[in-house]
Amino acid sequence: MCMGDSVSNLVPLYTRGVDVLRPIAPILPPAVIGILGGGQLGRMLASAARAMGYRVAVLDPDPDCPAAAVADRLVIGSYDDVGAALRLADLSDVVTYELEHVAAEVVAALEARLPMRPGHGPLLVTQDRLAERRFIEGAGIPVAPWREVRSVAEARVAATELGLPLRLKLPIGGYDGRGQVRIVDPADLDDAWERLGRPAGAALLAERELVFEAELSVVVARATDGVVAAFPIARNLHDAGILVESVAPAPVRVGVARRAVAIGSALALAMDLCGTLTAELFHLPDGSLVVNELAPRVHNSGHWTIEGAATSQFEQHIRAICGLGLGSPVAHGPTATVNLLGTGPRRTARLLGVAEALADPDVHLHLYDKRRVFERRKMGHLTALGANVDEALERARRARAALSWADGPEVDRR
Ligand code: ADP
Ligand code: MG
Repeated sequence: MCMGDSVSNLVPLYTRGVDVLRPIAPILPPAVIGILGGGQLGRMLASAARAMGYRVAVLDPDPDCPAAAVADRLVIGSYDDVGAALRLADLSDVVTYELEHVAAEVVAALEARLPMRPGHGPLLVTQDRLAERRFIEGAGIPVAPWREVRSVAEARVAATELGLPLRLKLPIGGYDGRGQVRIVDPADLDDAWERLGRPAGAALLAERELVFEAELSVVVARATDGVVAAFPIARNLHDAGILVESVAPAPVRVGVARRAVAIGSALALAMDLCGTLTAELFHLPDGSLVVNELAPRVHNSGHWTIEGAATSQFEQHIRAICGLGLGSPVAHGPTATVNLLGTGPRRTARLLGVAEALADPDVHLHLYDKRRVFERRKMGHLTALGANVDEALERARRARAALSWADGPEVDRR
């Protein structure tokens, strides 16, 4: 890709939606923001909220979850526990979520009590890959050719019609590449179906694997007054389904960046979303863009905004759901984020090499304070700034190479 006419999407984008939402009174500090999910996204949302003077209540099954240390209040419970969700509601003035896998009854119970932003619509659309594909196509935006299949025989027909390789995906619950199988030979379909653990008759998504030039993502935020702001798009690299590197602003032609932003904005509008929406995109060799996945929330590919943009995606989300004006999404300059994944068996997490990694003054470390490390677990990330994205990436990678997880006695899975 040439940088010449590509200089990119440093310019922030604001659009005012046509369907301006109902005017609502802003939710002001020291109001309490309730967050469903206390993982790293919840932790960084909570930090941004607290920096603005809000108080934070988090619901998570794990008392040692990453957000525990930065939440004012912690409600222990699973994401399908209506009682726990109501305890969170009692503590909160507005509720948001860091994950899509929230039970419909919990969503309904919360919405009956207090503002939940984004609301049930974006959640229901994005927690089911089949519903998500129908929604995206309904908005006139392309996705990879797909079929809903309910048996191995139907999957075999889909393989013939769509072509190989094929991705067989669980509609609900997959993340970081889990819950999907790559099929290169239809003879493997029986095994694949079994591995996904769904009975015959249950629906799966069969989707053609696309050959792409790059994976991109766009994070947009939509405020309660209908204003949409898009961050510069990121170029992402996945390894076996898990995000390992993002650079932003992505070195792509301006037209591609603009189309990505238009897609993100159109989908936020179509969902009547309030908050942050991330669209994962495939940039195909013919220049076109196809949506892979949507998340009505902050996203790993937007972590670069903490140091790399005027407003972080976390602050932006808090501003949006509290009915405040959005912050400027403009990038300070070329930025790269690399994920710090776990290695080895499950054991107490102790990171070595921090001082060496931070010898570069343009490198920043984020550790999620997870108590246990194991192979490929997302433990933290490193963000680096540079004169261009390649240099930023090189710095972030160099810092990551200095880090490792200390050996220790293995622990059981509980
Ligand atoms: P997850 O919820 O685990 O992120 P995704 O559907 O986004 O699930 O898949 C993870 C990664 O697997 C994608 O980012 C991409 O690298 C690869 N992938 C998934 N579906 C396809 C596809 N249809 N064509 C090509 N690559 C794909
Ligand atoms: Mg994905």
